[in-house]
Amino acid sequence: MNRAASLLEVDDLVLHFPVSGGGALGLWRRSVKALNGVSLAIRRGETIGLVGESGSGKSTLGRAILGLEPVTSGHVAFAGIDVTAGRRADLARLRRETAMVFQDPSNALNPRLTAGEAIAEVLRVHRKVLPAEIPARVSELLSLVGLDPTLGNRRPQALSGGQCQRVGIARALAIEPTMIVADECVAALDVSIQGQIINLFIDLRERMNLTLVFIAHDLAVVRRLCDRVAVMYLGRIVEEGPTEAVFSAPRHPYTAALIRSIPEIDPDIVLPDAPMQGEPPSPLSLPAGCPFHPRCPHAEARCHADPPPSLRRRDDHGWACILEPGALPTPLNASPIPIATGESA
Ligand code: SF4
Repeated sequence: MNRAASLLEVDDLVLHFPVSGGGALGLWRRSVKALNGVSLAIRRGETIGLVGESGSGKSTLGRAILGLEPVTSGHVAFAGIDVTAGRRADLARLRRETAMVFQDPSNALNPRLTAGEAIAEVLRVHRKVLPAEIPARVSELLSLVGLDPTLGNRRPQALSGGQCQRVGIARALAIEPTMIVADECVAALDVSIQGQIINLFIDLRERMNLTLVFIAHDLAVVRRLCDRVAVMYLGRIVEEGPTEAVFSAPRHPYTAALIRSIPEIDPDIVLPDAPMQGEPPSPLSLPAGCPFHPRCPHAEARCHADPPPSLRRRDDHGWACILEPGALPTPLNASPIPIATGESA
């Protein structure tokens, strides 16, 4: 993709952190290899999905993008800010331009504050409006996320999960961000409520030209929302490209297996292959060669020993595998999640 047009650039990012075990004496010390050379560019106004199993590094990458994780090497640049340099002024500017939406909507809110107070707190800290204008702006933000402004008087315990998540999104929007990182933000919600939150993101993206990094393990949700998708495995991006290209013709066996594992709504459709076998290896001890080779049905002898394949790119679609495009069978179309049209969750 054209890096010149990018809002965010991640360049060869490595993030390893030490862990020890064996009791108080710390008998062993090892290194968790959470990110292992991630490069990614995100355009302004684009929605990109980061997908992969637990432990793939997608949440760590989301936090590193926001300067919330100290990196081992590599760089993240956001709108000209070097996030990884650790300069206070740069990080303060980053905080003014980016926001995060978290997975658990009720736990992410302070139980002692009403929804309105929680939003007002952000407006006060970031000095977005004059103090006298805060109540009106709170009502505006609640309406923007599809909530009746009278719900601003309620504490999180008196709101549904979907309503709490809308309040979380309103808090994120209160800083008028250029980019939002949403980390598994619909995973804790019912399917119909997920649909409403996804529709809300689609609406907000169009109205506000938001750049959105959407971290999810649910590929059907990502297909509904995202322009592009990056598939992560053991701290690496193994495939990246336009969402429909990746879903209709995946080039990496891991992506193909993830797509096959999406539940089909039509019970008469027979899944073509067994879903992926086994668990991912521990990030404490990565396999030699291609990290996916212990689970890959297409692995050859060279996959066990050669260095991990780097991302090759053709037609704006990258993949890190020795296989050529078209080598994998075309998967069934994964069904986008049903979109509910009922009342605000
Ligand atoms: Fe499978 Fe080899 Fe491709 Fe890795 S490089 S995904 S082991 S075929």
